[in-house]
Amino acid sequence: ATFTQAGFDAPLLTAIVRAGYKEPTAIQAQALPAILSGRDVLGIAKTGSGKTAAFVLPAMVHIMDQQELEKGEGPIAIIVGPTHELAEQIHRETHRFAKGYKLRVCAAFGGLPKHQQFRELKAGAEIAVCTPGRLIDLVRMKACNLQRVTYVVLDEADRMFDMGFEPQIRSILGQIRPDRQLLLFSATMPMKVERLANDALSGPVRIRV
Ligand code: AMP
Repeated sequence: ATFTQAGFDAPLLTAIVRAGYKEPTAIQAQALPAILSGRDVLGIAKTGSGKTAAFVLPAMVHIMDQQELEKGEGPIAIIVGPTHELAEQIHRETHRFAKGYKLRVCAAFGGLPKHQQFRELKAGAEIAVCTPGRLIDLVRMKACNLQRVTYVVLDEADRMFDMGFEPQIRSILGQIRPDRQLLLFSATMPMKVERLANDALSGPVRIRV
């Protein structure tokens, strides 16, 4: 499979070429068709596999489609990871692929000033890259609500659970419409993550690399 066969449009293909990605990695080859078809995905994959692009590239497609349908406020896609460091890497990758579009990417994680993040969400950023605590803070401060979210990524779910973020994750999911597309990525599958997968995913495609 190639990126061209995935059916990406010109701005995205250009950004992929600029990134120096010649062909999809194993996780991308498996996850891209499933995600682009709108299915929920349970991906068991580690950092270094190219999992970030596997969920960021379809996020662009999803947002461009959804933007036509649902005017309104608040992000359309959220990506949630355990730490500022990981969120920053995801943010960089997202930014790189959002460039060809009129898309606003908001960094909603700790370690950066909250007031600026508040303003960006309030102004209508379409995609937010988050850590759980900061996203909940910002929602509580009414920077945005999560009613327009239809694309959710939970990255490194096992680490988020190890760090005690299960209540925050469940609270976030509880504020999002049930017909969202949910992508759950984890390096390992402890019981707790398996339980979340059972509770939150509908008819997921399981991918292990
Ligand atoms: P990740 O597992 O998402 O953290 O990605 C690991 C590294 O692989 C990052 O530096 C990415 O920029 C890079 N990468 C992701 N997909 C590809 C690809 N298809 N071809 C070459 N490099 C890639």
